[in-house]
Amino acid sequence: MSKNQTKNNKPNSSMKFTVILTLLVIAALTFLVIYSNNKPDTDQDIAFENKVSLEGQPILGNPEAPVTVIEFGDYKCPACKNWGDTIFPQLQKDYMEKGDVKFSFINVLFHGEESAIASSAAEAIYKQNPEQFWEFHKVLYAAQPEVDNHDSESVTVEKMIEMAGSVPSINVEQFQEDLQSDEIKEAVMKDTQLVEDLDIQFTPSIMVNNVMLKDPFDYEKIKSLIEEALKEQ
Ligand code: CA
Repeated sequence: MSKNQTKNNKPNSSMKFTVILTLLVIAALTFLVIYSNNKPDTDQDIAFENKVSLEGQPILGNPEAPVTVIEFGDYKCPACKNWGDTIFPQLQKDYMEKGDVKFSFINVLFHGEESAIASSAAEAIYKQNPEQFWEFHKVLYAAQPEVDNHDSESVTVEKMIEMAGSVPSINVEQFQEDLQSDEIKEAVMKDTQLVEDLDIQFTPSIMVNNVMLKDPFDYEKIKSLIEEALKEQ
């Protein structure tokens, strides 16, 4: 009897083995599918684990606002200027004026020396008077050449000094000194490090809280992310 049982058990255990093996294969395949879906992909929005720290970064709007929108931009990038002219005013009207969203800007240096000069100038204004940063930010974008040409020289140290002179309460001598200082170089480096850490591929890149948008010009998507975040309050 016990022999028979042993015999009967044989096909059972081999079946068990087959079932376990099949389950293991299914588990492995499921893992692979989930893993490949979670891989960062520039074809979709990317949710990061944490929000970006805004320490030492310019903030526009209610500093206590529950939602943060960050532009990773380059003053030499025509699409960034375009974003500021078309998407930003909607954001300001719909959410910033109500105190629901605060806005920040982080420098991306994708256009060489001129990007570096413009971002240093903006950081130098921020250092001297954080409130005037946004005025200078606007002036910098407005100064882009009419014709969309990355190669035309629109940013020089001389032009930055001239522009700084038109910003109220800015001491131009101090600005010139700051422009060459280690403190300003470090501020620009800090932004560049963030750009590398977040693997920013294009400008403008727009982040709503911890989500980096696939399409920065998709205002409906920006709105839905903000609404979702506000509901979670
Ligand atoms: Ca900065």
